[in-house]
Amino acid sequence: MKTQNADLHCHSVVSDGTLTPAQLALRAKTNGVSLWALTDHDETGGLTDAASAAAAVGLDFLTGVEISVTFLRQTIHIVGLGFDADNATLKAGLLQTRSGRLRRARQMADDLARVGIAGAFEGALHYAGNPDLVSRTHFARFLVDTGVCRDTGEVFRKYLNDGKPGYVAHQWATLQNAVGWITRAGGVAVLAHPARYRFDSNQEWALLADFKGHGGQAIEVVTGSHSVDECKTYAQTAIEFGLAASRGSDFHSPDESHTDLGILPPLPGTLTPVWTLLADRIVRSSSSC
Ligand code: AMP
Ligand code: MN
Ligand code: MN
Ligand code: MN
Repeated sequence: MKTQNADLHCHSVVSDGTLTPAQLALRAKTNGVSLWALTDHDETGGLTDAASAAAAVGLDFLTGVEISVTFLRQTIHIVGLGFDADNATLKAGLLQTRSGRLRRARQMADDLARVGIAGAFEGALHYAGNPDLVSRTHFARFLVDTGVCRDTGEVFRKYLNDGKPGYVAHQWATLQNAVGWITRAGGVAVLAHPARYRFDSNQEWALLADFKGHGGQAIEVVTGSHSVDECKTYAQTAIEFGLAASRGSDFHSPDESHTDLGILPPLPGTLTPVWTLLADRIVRSSSSC
């Protein structure tokens, strides 16, 4: 099906979301989603629950993950869809990618202590549903709930973005490895929210060319992170680079996310939807035809 309400990017308590996989499945169904993927950061531990919940509520389902990658000294995200979640190389790669997070969290807390914010490590950990996956989002929740900032946007602007006092540079996976783990596990690699990065046009071209060269097949065009103009820009990019297009809210939390599950514009009709590449990887619910 070319037009359908696919939401192929969101987060559960297994990474930095606030809902369980089952709560997300129900919310997606309620919002009219027909094809759903859970894409936790660097972690596939929620996929078994997500698959059962999707079947229970009558949603077609794809496995998913969002891998943190360092490219030209920036952090970028590669979404994987429709892979075999038991693939040993993928699992080992994700384990390695997550492995530095606790150390990084301690360094972030030390940095924040230097600017007068005490107890941030324990504070962030308290919000992490998965202690192996402490993320900047958990620090942001701590800083909002303790009244240091008004909202998570302000926390990132003041403390957690590159160059701010709580930011700690981190070496994530390489682009080649992330794309390779996903594709060798039978999935499709998707360049996530391309408008969020701060590359100049040459660097962005290098990213797209390398991504494609390593076997990347799709790019997010319609996402909760993109304005209408950015959707148009990256629709054009998809055509220029011969990439399929993906669509996903990047939903994290009812209290924090501006875009709810499935509440997004459709993909432009000129593009090849990523799910057409994944027809044999979709786990069909019994209520779909
Ligand atoms: P980490 O993987 O620990 O570096 O955390 C990255 C996560 O922080 C992203 O996946 C988003 O959920 C969140 N994030 C990044 N920038 C912002 C922002 N400006 N406002 C709110 N959340 C953000
Ligand atoms: Mn996140
Ligand atoms: Mn992301
Ligand atoms: Mn995301």
